[in-house]
Amino acid sequence: MKFLSSLTLILSLAILTLSANNNDLKPCAGTTKSGQPCNMKVTPPETYCRFHNPNAIHCAGTKKDGTPCKMQVTKQGDYCHYHSSQSISHPINK
Ligand SMILES: [Zn+2]
Ligand SMILES: [Zn+2]
Repeated sequence: MKFLSSLTLILSLAILTLSANNNDLKPCAGTTKSGQPCNMKVTPPETYCRFHNPNAIHCAGTKKDGTPCKMQVTKQGDYCHYHSSQSISHPINK
């Protein structure tokens, strides 16, 4: 009986932890282009979603209209999958 009750305790603790994690999600502090608050949920201590993170590294490519690409990449100087061809057509040894 002692084993069963401790198992129940562990299970309820696990359920509590899971629901606590869900409650920890906070809305992104960023705003969308239309000025509305961003609806993306983030996990503290993050305050911005991946689209609004000021520390995010963006694609080194440029869009057709000449503006910098906003796609997030993992490394500085990387290209998103849309612009990976730009890195090939513009080699480093220009
Ligand atoms: Zn956001
Ligand atoms: Zn890009």
